Amino acid sequence: MTSPMTETGKIPDALAEARRHPPAGSRAEEYVDFASRRFVLATDLDGTFLGGSEADRRRLYEWIEANRGEVGLIFVTGRDPQFLEKLCAETFVPWPEYVIGDVGTTIARVEFDESGAGRVRPMGPLEDWISEAWGDAGPKVRAALDGHPGLTLQPTAFRHRVSYDYDPGAFDASAHDIVAEMGLDSLVSDNRFFDVLPRGVSKGPSLLRLLAHLGVPEHKTLAAGDTLNDFSMLALDLPGVAVGGAESGLLEKLDDRASLHKAQAIGAGGILEAVASLGLHPTPPAPDPAG
Ligand SMILES: [Mg+2]
Repeated sequence: MTSPMTETGKIPDALAEARRHPPAGSRAEEYVDFASRRFVLATDLDGTFLGGSEADRRRLYEWIEANRGEVGLIFVTGRDPQFLEKLCAETFVPWPEYVIGDVGTTIARVEFDESGAGRVRPMGPLEDWISEAWGDAGPKVRAALDGHPGLTLQPTAFRHRVSYDYDPGAFDASAHDIVAEMGLDSLVSDNRFFDVLPRGVSKGPSLLRLLAHLGVPEHKTLAAGDTLNDFSMLALDLPGVAVGGAESGLLEKLDDRASLHKAQAIGAGGILEAVASLGLHPTPPAPDPAG
């Protein structure tokens, strides 16, 4: 589709603005493009997309960049938008098109401003069910778990969650009951983090909502992860990979998932291994056998 131009040859500001913020539910041009890719990689970051040898990470990232028209990229992570903007701006990690951030409590798209700077922008209406489920629970959660054994509050003010660093040796399990009584969910991951989330919100449900909104077929989506906060997306009925080095508790819970690829290669190498093994694309480079 050609762009309507003004006499000066510039796209009118209002149209450019509409492209950056397509109305909810619209079949905007970018969505059709994204939904028609050969497959979409929906990947966790730490230990997965960012895990493995540097050689395998470069192989995966360069292959994605060389096949952008065929491979869509969604980050599905516990990290927040500010972290992601810095990561992609300052390192060789490629920009995703979309983001499920904050352990599923953020649904966002990546936009680039006139200077080329990338921004992770929440997709307002797609997040309504999350903010409704959360309400204004932050202060109440922080008060109820203040000084709780084994939990240290993370200093960042997240929008729809409260997160703690978790010390399994000192932890008092009554925290799970305290959270449940408030009508919220608790999630321990990697034996390091304790997240308090809106009830029913996690990586998997938010990923499904985004895929449905974009019109991406689930069977053309590869979910990749390595710890228990990835369980809700790896348990979905779509192609999945638990990368090498995955948390044993995650693998145990996924034991009966026949369509899940349990990779030998660590982190990014495990993603490459799964793309080939599941037949999602004909040209992924092989991971380093030593990596
Ligand atoms: Mg991880």
